[in-house]
Amino acid sequence: MVIGSRPNAVKEAHMRVVGTVGQAMLAYCFALCLAQSALCQAPGDAQRRANAARPRTSVTPEARALHRQSLVIDGHNDLPWQLREKGSLSFDALNLNQLQPDFHTDLVRLREGGVGGQFWSVYVPASTARRGTALRETLEQIDLVHAMIERYPQQLELARSAADVTRIHRHGKIACLIGVEGGHAIEDSLQVLRKLYGLGARYMTLTHSDTLSWADSATDKPRHGGLTAFGEEVVREMNRLGMLVDLSHVSAETMRDALRVSSAPVIFSHSSARAIADHPRNVPDDVLRRLVPNGGVVMINFYSGYVVPDAARRGVEHTRVAAELRKEFPADEPYRRALARWEAQHPVSRGTIHDVVDHIDHVVRVAGVDHVGLGSDFDGVDVLPDQLEDVSCFPNITQELLRRGYRREQIQRVLGGNVLRALRSAETVAGKESTRQ
Ligand SMILES: [Zn+2]
Repeated sequence: MVIGSRPNAVKEAHMRVVGTVGQAMLAYCFALCLAQSALCQAPGDAQRRANAARPRTSVTPEARALHRQSLVIDGHNDLPWQLREKGSLSFDALNLNQLQPDFHTDLVRLREGGVGGQFWSVYVPASTARRGTALRETLEQIDLVHAMIERYPQQLELARSAADVTRIHRHGKIACLIGVEGGHAIEDSLQVLRKLYGLGARYMTLTHSDTLSWADSATDKPRHGGLTAFGEEVVREMNRLGMLVDLSHVSAETMRDALRVSSAPVIFSHSSARAIADHPRNVPDDVLRRLVPNGGVVMINFYSGYVVPDAARRGVEHTRVAAELRKEFPADEPYRRALARWEAQHPVSRGTIHDVVDHIDHVVRVAGVDHVGLGSDFDGVDVLPDQLEDVSCFPNITQELLRRGYRREQIQRVLGGNVLRALRSAETVAGKESTRQ
């Protein structure tokens, strides 16, 4: 492989663990080499029984045709982060027109998966804020997305509006949208936020794994009970710009505050339902219900750790164990070894596509079919359900939704119509009803 043999650099499993020894530490998912093979094939007993009862999906010609006729928009793909992690910043060394088995994403499989619009995450870790390099590194990631689009002009085009997305899709290309993952990128500056919008950012996730000076994260100690006054100002400025407010990664209180303040629909670019898989990264039912008056959309994350109930429990336990081990082993190496031992003994239940569609069903039951979408998190996670291993797998979702009795137009809303409506509506709120076709 051109890009080396390291396992995927996982970011979604990063959780901030608050220990008693000094400052909080990031707990990383270790033993990934072990994990890639062992974790993926070792579901727990309950999971094995559940999977056996639900056969593999097989895409029918009807589902394939419907999928082809739909505008499929994925809310979150971390290919830019993978490229950065693996040091493959040149598309001379890495040809996205060829299969890239080290990644979940390449142009060959995006076509196979029928993806028409992609939000590319320009994530950089929250730790960059502590180093004072958050904005610089975010700009580098935006530059990387622009370079990718320039390199593949026949297949990709930057979309700055909902109208751009439909136009680019009509021309048979993939509309590329940019999502900033983590408000640390703006370095507490609304001017920077405006500049990021100018460079093409069409959503910003208010936090990543760490609580900021103006917003609480779901995976860190809450400090503000949601958003501060400046946090509310950030939301209002995003509304004014027409940038979608993304509530993945934030605490439930931050979700509620943002929903109270935002005059435009919000999104969750990659989050699942908490009632099904009880993990703080997922969305509680009261917040799902608030999406109805807001017009917002939860784009379901495919990561096994957020969709499979067993795996979500294991994730929460992982955070607790990591904090305890940190107390026991203040030095990094022994701590890492102890955590890796625990992880090897507690593999993640991988689950199947059915687990993911269960989350779609739940959001539909609680909020309605107008409030759910897809936010894969491909190339940001290490364990994915059976039949959702990479970007070529999206047609399996269309098939499973058909099998579960969804009507064609409902499926098209889930696949992309809902998030496009939310973006269009955010543009209207900003007074930017696009006339560009
Ligand atoms: Zn994320």
